[in-house]
Amino acid sequence: MIEYKNISLESFNTFAINAIASTLLVIESESDLMDLYKSDFFESNEFIVLGGGSNVVFVDDNVKKHILKIEIKGLEFEDFADSKSIIAGAGENWHEFLENCIRYQAYGMENLALIPGTVGAAPIQNIGAYGVEQESCFESLRAFDVKYGQFTTFAHDDCQFAYRDSFFKRNKNRYIITSVKYQLSNEFSPNISYKDLSDRFAEVKFEDIKPTEMFEAICDIRRRKIPYPENTPNAGSFFKNPEICLESYELLKSNFPEIGGFINGDKVKIYAGQLIDLVGLKGYKMADSGAGVSDKHALVLVNYGGAIGREVFELSELIIKSVHAKFGIKLEREVNLV
Ligand SMILES: Cc1cc2nc3c(=O)[nH]c(=O)nc-3n(C[C@H](O)[C@H](O)[C@H](O)COP(=O)(O)OP(=O)(O)OC[C@H]3O[C@@H](n4cnc5c(N)ncnc54)[C@H](O)[C@@H]3O)c2cc1C
Repeated sequence: MIEYKNISLESFNTFAINAIASTLLVIESESDLMDLYKSDFFESNEFIVLGGGSNVVFVDDNVKKHILKIEIKGLEFEDFADSKSIIAGAGENWHEFLENCIRYQAYGMENLALIPGTVGAAPIQNIGAYGVEQESCFESLRAFDVKYGQFTTFAHDDCQFAYRDSFFKRNKNRYIITSVKYQLSNEFSPNISYKDLSDRFAEVKFEDIKPTEMFEAICDIRRRKIPYPENTPNAGSFFKNPEICLESYELLKSNFPEIGGFINGDKVKIYAGQLIDLVGLKGYKMADSGAGVSDKHALVLVNYGGAIGREVFELSELIIKSVHAKFGIKLEREVNLV
């Protein structure tokens, strides 16, 4: 375990917020967690678990809670007749993990390529993209229970996965995920249900689509549609897409015919980015601040340089108020404020 004192968090979060952490502990193994437990760390200190920092905003300039940066590595593959199981350490990089799965001809999560962050954080908000959520291949996870100092295995149903949500997102800081097990297929069956993908492969026979082509297509589409933190620091979609009932959707549409939605049973998922665009905040830059809304995708708040966490928070409040005032819909943040 490595300990840092008074360290800048700028390179530990994709929003590049330059907050200062009083203590940052790098957790490299499960025994590091047990050692902390035995030293009464969890009873004596408030703490924040950090993976790749791609879904967090540090609101305060000084972070007093201890940061536990999870860097537990390792990949184990096991072959079965028609599937493969893969156990990945929580600190493995998600995209590199998927590259390894493709290399081992283990399929099912190609559509989740290029999502930043770690494997251990993927179940927290049940990451999803292009019609696939990680829960579709999830088998179980191992987590350290900081209350009782023991490791517990959670099966799929224990995790209560939902849209950008899970048991862990609702019960923060009790469990620290140390590894995740996925069950992937030996057969590649591309999911091109999303328009961007069906357009992309319009000229190719379904059975001729190759896993690597699919993977690269996802990466390519994503790079064109959203700003990436290497160029413009951000935390991905800042808000969840709100779900409303069919009746409210029809009423909304009668006032704002341009509003699109994805109908799912008696609910309709509205595109939060479109609502932000319609209140005129796409591309908005806060005065005297580096915080703004991407001009590429209105759902992504960005750091144009030097933004502090408090300004990003204020910008998100402005967006929530503006959207509510115009459409009566309350946006919920997807990003974790810490
Ligand atoms: C450009 C960009 C695009 C993105 N696109 C998508 C997308 O398409 N779909 C999507 O779902 N998300 C997307 N995201 C959001 C983000 O990448 C995911 O939520 C990712 O899973 C976060 O991983 P992380 O390791 O960076 O987690 P962090 O940001 O470090 O942490 C996120 C939360 O998980 C907790 N946590 C992290 N690791 C652990 C652990 N081991 N045990 C317990 N708790 C833990 C933290 O305490 C925090 O509450 C995007 C982000 C960016 C910047």
